[in-house]
Order: sequence, then C-alpha cells, then structure tokens
Amino acid sequence: MSTLKAVRGTRDLLPPETVLWNRVEATARAVFARYNFGEIRTPVFEDTALFARGVGEETDIVSKEMYTWEDRARAQSEKPQSLTLRPENTAGVVRAYIEHGLGESGQLQKLYYIGPQFRRERPQKGRYRQFAQIGAEVIGPPSSGSESPLRDAEILEMLATLLNELGITGWTLHLNSVGSAADRARYDVALRAALVPVVGQMCADCQRRAVTNPLRVLDCKVPADQPIIETLPVIADSLDEASQTHFAAVTAALDAAGVPYTLNPRLVRGLDYYTRTTFEFTHDGLGAQNALLGGGRYDGLSEALGGPRAPGIGFAIGEDRLVLTLLAQESAPPQVDAYIAPLGETLNTAALVLARELRHKGLWIELGDGSFRLKKSFEAAEKTARRIVILGEDELQSGILTVKTFSTGLQTKVPRAELGVFLSEPASK
Ligand code: AMP
Repeated sequence: MSTLKAVRGTRDLLPPETVLWNRVEATARAVFARYNFGEIRTPVFEDTALFARGVGEETDIVSKEMYTWEDRARAQSEKPQSLTLRPENTAGVVRAYIEHGLGESGQLQKLYYIGPQFRRERPQKGRYRQFAQIGAEVIGPPSSGSESPLRDAEILEMLATLLNELGITGWTLHLNSVGSAADRARYDVALRAALVPVVGQMCADCQRRAVTNPLRVLDCKVPADQPIIETLPVIADSLDEASQTHFAAVTAALDAAGVPYTLNPRLVRGLDYYTRTTFEFTHDGLGAQNALLGGGRYDGLSEALGGPRAPGIGFAIGEDRLVLTLLAQESAPPQVDAYIAPLGETLNTAALVLARELRHKGLWIELGDGSFRLKKSFEAAEKTARRIVILGEDELQSGILTVKTFSTGLQTKVPRAELGVFLSEPASK
C-alpha cells in the first residue's frame, strides 16, 4: 500500500518552526490591539459568487486558482450551491460587515484576521496551495472618516511597526495610487490605445487581458513582456486632482512619521476592487516570491457586493513568508532553559517535582528520564536546552544541584532555592 502524504502545496508545520508562527501571531495581535483593532473570524468557505464579485472574474485567483465545488442540494427541486474555499479574506470581511450592518453604528470598523487561505497555484518556496494570511481592514461609512488618507498612513505605519517589532530588517514598501474609478476609466482608454500596436508580441494571457481588463497587463510576470510593459503609460498621469491630493496626503504623513517608501507607478496588484492607495512590502531574502504582504484601498467593494457605500483599506500579510524571512535571519538558540536529568529511575518522580517547581516559576523545562545513561542525557540536553541540571541521590539529599551551561562549558553547584534565578540568567557569557 502506498503511504499517504500531505497534498501537493500543503504542508505540516512542526516544532521548532511553530514557535516562530506563534511568536508572529502573538506580536501581530499585540500590535493590532495597540491600534484598536478587534479580531474577526469568518468561515473558511463561502458562496462562490462572493469571490467572483468581490475579487473579480478576470483575476488569476478567480479565473484559475479557486477550490470550488457544488454542494449537494438539500431538496431535489433546489439548485446545488457553488461553494469555494476562501482564496483571500477581504471579501469575507466585507460580506460580514454588510450582513451584520456594522456600518450602522456610524463608527469606523477596524478588524483583523489570522487564518488559512487556499489557491491552486504552482507550489514553490514561499508559495503554497494552503497558506496563512494575517490581515486587517479599516472600513466604515464616509462619515466615519473611512476615506481619509490618514487611515492609509496609519495602516502603513502600523505595518512598519509590526515588521520592526518582529525583528524583520531590510523590507521595502512599494507605494502607488491607482486612482478613483473615474481615473481608472480614463487610464483604461489610454492603456488600450497604447496596447494596440504592441499586444501582438505579448503573452497569451496579456492578449486576453488587453481586451477584458487592460490594467491586469501590468500584473504580468512573464519576463519577455516586461520591456513592453515599461513603455506603457503610467496611471499617475491619469489621476484627477482629488486623487492626487489624497495620495500626496498619504506620502506626507509617512514622511512625517519617518516610514520609508519607494514610489512604484506600475504597482496595481492582482485584485480588481482596489482604488487609490495600493502597496506591497517586499523582502529580498525571499527570492522569487518576494512579496511579504500587499494591500490597498477598496472604496467601491461594499457596493460591488450589494452593500452600502463603505470605503475601506486593508492588507494581507503572507504569514508563511514572514516565518521564512525570520528563519533565514536568525539561527534560533534553544528556547528551553534547562533539561533535568535524573540519575536512575528511582529519581524520576523527584525530577518531576523539581521540573514542576521550576515550571511554576515560568521557566521552560524539558524532563529527561532516569533510564538514560548520563551520556545519552547530555546528548539529548544539548540538542534542546541551554543547560542541564543533574539530579542524583546526593543532589536530592544535599539540595545542591549540578548545573552545566553548554555555551560556556562551565559546571556550577547551585542550591535548589537559587536554581530558578540561576536558570533565568542568559546562558552565553
Ligand atoms: P494577495 O492576497 O494576493 O494580495 O496576497 C497577499 C500576500 O499573501 C502576498 O504578499 C503573499 O505574502 C501572500 N500570499 C499570496 N499567495 C500566496 C501563496 N500561494 N502562498 C504563500 N503566500 C501567499
């Protein structure tokens, strides 16, 4: 019988990597709380129509990457419902905003989520078919200030803070404005005209996009198409005064807050509902899949989903890629403070009591086993912990324990009452 494996594009996350996942999530929650964001949890699957309308039929996500199936009809007379595993979370959050009338309070809604998303993409390093996103949305009726460029700047400043607090260095914020719907309509005309003489030399996808949604051409990743894309007009030239003023206010606020950014006039991103500010944070350490996160303003999304006017802005961080960046950056030192090695099985229960005592003091303790020879205990301890505590009959009687610190090689006698303090000290001197 062939052995079963995790499905292509999915993977198991194992310790010690999960320590990083938990740290990333705990830091994100702590930072979001300081900016007064609350958590939302939406279902993992939704009506397919939500993504068709909210993400856009012409996007790669909707046209070829969704996990969609027909649910069994409840009654014979009923049409089966088409359901889809969520490929992203913004559409679900905005659906929930509309469904629960969250805008009726008149207050700005600031919501964050953490969870798995699903896209049938070609798997490679940093790109999976099940991946996790950490995202947030700021959305509300226009009277709540949801259209203000201050919201854009605050979100970007929050992201810079989060990356810095995680210890991620070397990120670049790419920033652009794709304008209002009217600006985009003007740009659409200019782009179509510019594409006519060159589109014949572009890839098949671009030839299709040039007809259905020319803005998507700028999203093309085919290397041979890039020199042609370079010659196309940029959207900045089609922005009206209001859009220009809005964008200028965003960049001025970022300058004031000291958040560095790079203007990137060809940044349009893959989703149709974006208006005005769009952004991406990249990291060179990631290789081909170098986007850590992306986001932008979506002033028309709520209406596109049948809701009230509710401008908004949000982002989604690729959590898998954050963790990859952290893994590449640090050689993780052992997290465990000490490994307790009982000398003989008769000392097992005494070792358990000692471990309990130290764990109650907040220390991270691994408990060995008295059936191991001392050499085996040392080998196991060195792989897991910063120090080893030896508990033999003498140590138990005298209350003086032998502790070896691996980084220095020093062996120390420590009274049991002082052990907690001793083990909390940094191990490298
Ligand atoms: P998007 O929802 O396409 O704007 O993507 C936002 C972020 O999610 C990207 O910048 C990536 O970091 C991450 N992401 C998107 N697709 C994948 C994937 N297939 N695997 C891993 N991360 C992804």
